[in-house]
Amino acid sequence: MQLSSRITGLTGGGSDGWDVFLKARRMIATGTPVTELTIGEHDIRTAAPILQDMHASALGGHTGYAAVPGTETLRQTVAARVQERSGVPTTRDNVMITPGGQAALFAAHMAACDPGDTALYIDPYYATYPGTLRGAGTIPQAISTRAEDAFQPRAEALKAHSGAARSLLVNSPNNPTGVVYSDRTLEMIASVCCEDDLWLISDEVYDTQVWEGRHLSPRALPGMAERTLVVGSMSKSHAMTGSRCGWIIGPEDAVADLITLATHTTYGVPGFIQDASTFALNQGRDFEAKIAEPFRRRRALASQVLARQNTVGLVPAQGAMYLMLDVRATGLSGEAFAYDLLDAHHIAVMPGESFGKSAAGHIRVAMTIEDTAFEAALQTLCAHAEKLAA
Ligand code: PMP
Repeated sequence: MQLSSRITGLTGGGSDGWDVFLKARRMIATGTPVTELTIGEHDIRTAAPILQDMHASALGGHTGYAAVPGTETLRQTVAARVQERSGVPTTRDNVMITPGGQAALFAAHMAACDPGDTALYIDPYYATYPGTLRGAGTIPQAISTRAEDAFQPRAEALKAHSGAARSLLVNSPNNPTGVVYSDRTLEMIASVCCEDDLWLISDEVYDTQVWEGRHLSPRALPGMAERTLVVGSMSKSHAMTGSRCGWIIGPEDAVADLITLATHTTYGVPGFIQDASTFALNQGRDFEAKIAEPFRRRRALASQVLARQNTVGLVPAQGAMYLMLDVRATGLSGEAFAYDLLDAHHIAVMPGESFGKSAAGHIRVAMTIEDTAFEAALQTLCAHAEKLAA
């Protein structure tokens, strides 16, 4: 039977960027140990007290259909958190709970765009973005950035496409680069959105992982609260990737329509997951800092390792759980380098090309293994690059 072009064309016909990752997984399945520095998942599991709360909630009977927009307490807890951190008045009517940030990204584009509308996103980008935008019926249009600008977008690049677009998706702190957008960049983005009447979809799932400077939510900038949909998640901030709990923050009328969409798609998030998420959010900032700390530490370690050589370049970044490394001095593409490193040393990293054209000649390293093994893998990676460059 013929499948719809909507689903068969989701990845745009090309590779979806996961080939090196899949090869590493095949090697592991056939008994070859591989050091995996690929996906954005903590090397710790969800904390026991959160799981105990989840268990108690389930045993207490919260296993039936939960309210589609989210439980009253979780919506209120998220609203209070967002208001406290961004300064923007936010109530539970501005919040819808979703099965993770990924579902929120899809729903946000369904809310902002009609089929055939142009939806902008910044390259390099989180690997699911173009497929998510296509799935929502839009025409994805990448906005290029440059390594020399630490991958922060420029006004000229945005203005080249913003006049004909309906929405713009940004992500700071950024996956894959780790870059935190400056206030100036975010102000420029906000003024383009206001001038060209765009929805801004602000993916802030790494908002607790900032090593330098601050995270500014663009929803807090003048004129932006009515045109911004913020995507949040428990995945990265609380090491709850498998719990699938996230949210969208937006204007009340947008949230009301998003709830109708959820009624016809996801039908909400399990109550025991939402109760555990409320419990986790109530652990406060110290808990979040503890979850983020290993990435801060490993970024400092990486700076030391990379300072001892000059073949591999480290893109200056201020947050998230990744390093973006420039391997252009080896003469290889990011993809060729990633395959070579996997074959020679059984170390798996993501090619920059998996995240768009702007990150060609780079690789993304997830800082998601224990410090000693992480440092050793980076040393091997640098030595391998030096050998290739020689
Ligand atoms: N946005 C970005 C930038 C991400 O890196 C991820 C996950 N890696 C997500 C959204 C989705 O996260 P989740 O669905 O687990 O909340």
